[in-house]
Amino acid sequence: MAKLRLERVTKIFDRNIHGAKDITFEAEDKEFVVLVGPSGCGKTTILRLIAGLEQPTSGNVYIDGECINDIPPRDRNVAMVFQNYALYPHMDVYENMAFGLKVRGYPAGEIEARVKNAAELLGLSKYLKRKPGQLSGGQRQRVALGRAIVREPRLFLFDEPLSNLDAKLRVQMRSELARLHKRLSATIIYVTHDQVEAMTLGQKIIVLKDGVIQQIADPLTLYQSPANKFVAGFIGSPPMNFIPGKIKEVDNLPVFVHPSLNLKLNRKFLRFINREVELGIRPDDFSRNHGLEIQMIVDVVEPMGNERYIYGHCGDIMLSARIQQDEHPESDKPFRLTIAPEKIYLFDAQTEKRL
Ligand code: ATP
Repeated sequence: MAKLRLERVTKIFDRNIHGAKDITFEAEDKEFVVLVGPSGCGKTTILRLIAGLEQPTSGNVYIDGECINDIPPRDRNVAMVFQNYALYPHMDVYENMAFGLKVRGYPAGEIEARVKNAAELLGLSKYLKRKPGQLSGGQRQRVALGRAIVREPRLFLFDEPLSNLDAKLRVQMRSELARLHKRLSATIIYVTHDQVEAMTLGQKIIVLKDGVIQQIADPLTLYQSPANKFVAGFIGSPPMNFIPGKIKEVDNLPVFVHPSLNLKLNRKFLRFINREVELGIRPDDFSRNHGLEIQMIVDVVEPMGNERYIYGHCGDIMLSARIQQDEHPESDKPFRLTIAPEKIYLFDAQTEKRL
């Protein structure tokens, strides 16, 4: 397996469209790295640059220390699994998996051993004689994975491989992929726009926006210490609540001031007096015990079984909160929430960086 490094890689398409800007990151050997961000943020462009399907406008791509910019895709020993995995409909599962090795001239015995091994790993051994049309969506997706696995590449590139599956199957395939990563001990670069997929699969997550890396971190760090407002709002569901306002000094202490809400802040924010900010609170961080009080007028209650999500407002501020199942908020009535001061995030209103 392999270590990957992108160094200051930029891709500018025709008409000066920036696909990826100054991208630098590393994937360690056997690491599961996820590229995540909204549509058009440059995820696929970066995968294609690694695969050699695009040439960087500037910057270098290295595998195991060797610059591979001038190596053609077929010689990079990198396998890419796409969202639209076109299987050959007239070939059975075995033939679909064997095809790539056949055209590369591998001996029949070697092909058989690799296909059988991959089929076993993917739970496809019973289906080797079936055509793709006789398989479920999840099974077809596994055949597409199998085609990549039999090549024994130094690097796997996955481009939204689960997005064609229904929600339940996606969850199932997600845990299968995590197990597969362990068994293959492979280096994987995985692209998705789904933050839940990113958080559950990635050992290292790279958050992208407009072709620019916003933050590189492990899932917990991304959640607890987002670098800016974009990352804070993108990771976590329902998303973080944001409230625009200003930090003022009252009795030598910093206070967040908005026409509908004043909140005493931690002393550490004293140095930001008079700063225009966005205050952030995760819906999960509200509680009903000690802390700063916020009265919410409840608009909607969503029972989730083990907990409830409530959506409401405080003046013109829209808020969402997660509460326990045994709480009973009522529509159009006030509901008291509390937030611990240390759970409050602040972002600079102009730069959107976390303070
Ligand atoms: P999605 O989740 O929708 O697949 P993405 O994050 O993978 O999006 P990319 O496909 O990498 O985004 O595109 C990044 C930017 O580069 C977009 O603005 C896109 O329109 C542009 N782009 C991608 N490929 C080309 C191309 N061949 N020519 C011109 N512009 C392109």
